[in-house]
Amino acid sequence: MQTANRSRHDVVVVGGRVAGSATAMLLARLGHDVVVVDQASFPSDTVSTHSIARSGMVQLRRWSLLDPVLDSGAPAIRQVTFNAAGASVTRTIKDKAGVDLLVAPRRYVLDTLLAAAAERAGADVRPGVTVTDVQRDGRGRVVGVQGHDHTGAPVELGARWVIGADGLRSRVARSVGAAINQGGPAGGAAQYAYYAGIPWSGFEFFVAERSFAGVFPTHDEQACIWVLNPTTDARAVHRRAGSRVEAFGQLLERSAPPLAERLRQARRTSPVQGMLRQPNQVRQAFGPGWALVGDAGYYRDATTAYGISDAFRDAELLAVALDQALRGAVEEPTALASYQQQRDRALAEIFEITCRLAAYPPVPAFIELQKQLSAAIDRQAAALAARPIPAQRLLATA
Ligand SMILES: Cc1cc2nc3c(=O)[nH]c(=O)nc-3n(C[C@H](O)[C@H](O)[C@H](O)COP(=O)(O)OP(=O)(O)OC[C@H]3O[C@@H](n4cnc5c(N)ncnc54)[C@H](O)[C@@H]3O)c2cc1C
Repeated sequence: MQTANRSRHDVVVVGGRVAGSATAMLLARLGHDVVVVDQASFPSDTVSTHSIARSGMVQLRRWSLLDPVLDSGAPAIRQVTFNAAGASVTRTIKDKAGVDLLVAPRRYVLDTLLAAAAERAGADVRPGVTVTDVQRDGRGRVVGVQGHDHTGAPVELGARWVIGADGLRSRVARSVGAAINQGGPAGGAAQYAYYAGIPWSGFEFFVAERSFAGVFPTHDEQACIWVLNPTTDARAVHRRAGSRVEAFGQLLERSAPPLAERLRQARRTSPVQGMLRQPNQVRQAFGPGWALVGDAGYYRDATTAYGISDAFRDAELLAVALDQALRGAVEEPTALASYQQQRDRALAEIFEITCRLAAYPPVPAFIELQKQLSAAIDRQAAALAARPIPAQRLLATA
């Protein structure tokens, strides 16, 4: 078989969205030779709503990416309204950990900005490349990946480290046989669509029995309208309704009647999308020559809307650990074990809250968990804000 594209690098990152491009950007800023491959090309969308929590905002700010995100037209969110049990409370976003606003940029914008930032830092970003397997040496260490480009031409990339940032159904995780070390029940459904034509005043949340719904204002004066339920409820409504759009409307009507009423004046600009039976799982994060980051390593129900922020946190933990290993400053197993340990410690509290929220306890318990979530996010944001910024000297002189 002819191998058209064959090269060797410090790091090959499989998957170029929030986890992959962020990790590649940081490693490239730290001076390493990095290639990012993604079967998709950019700009392109992925199935996800896209609110970024305070901790994720801290990362964007520390990495000098917050201004580009705001300049892209993602509206600065300065207030959050929480509706539950007939009451409505609106709060201004407090200035904590250097962040006084939130954003919900469309993924085709955010992911493209991150891939461009990785490229600017010196990473070689190759869209349209699908990885089909990892390559190993005689001792079983992962030493590269193989696959094909969009024309079907074979691609082989050798690397000291292969990073799987290829999402929930990670090919890298399956190829290396990464074990699932922790799992929770898979039960939650998340569905969303975009609406235009009416004003949006900030993030809005609506809690009702067995449902959580809301509004994330985004680009082009549109908003992402979402509703989360147990999958059994979503399926039952869908069966009765006949169409996904009709079912989405009925779920919103049940979960957030005032929002459903307002949406009668709005225009739906997208199909309804989403995911049923979202898993909750933590995978082994590394092995000889490989590591996982983002959804590939850790997946949680969308009820906490925290996957992007998780990915940004873990991208930095992994980049710093790999940098130490690549420079020989720390033994490989020690550096990577430290990545896994830090990741698992950092994710534990919100993972537990997510699993409990995804079980849809009665409304008062759901609200209490939301309060715990908010405090946990603030703690994580403060911890991230206190870390040294990778390659900061380089950034300052760029
Ligand atoms: C319905 C829903 C709503 C959500 N809402 C939010 C929210 O509001 N806020 C939030 O923070 N998080 C949210 N999340 C979670 C968030 O979407 C994920 O955590 C995040 O996308 C993870 O990013 P990632 O880079 O790890 O993986 P992904 O975004 O899945 O990217 C993986 C990339 O890998 C590529 N890839 C896969 N396999 C291969 C291969 N074999 N070869 C080459 N490339 C490959 C894919 O093309 C893709 O581009 C939501 C998720 C869902 C499902």
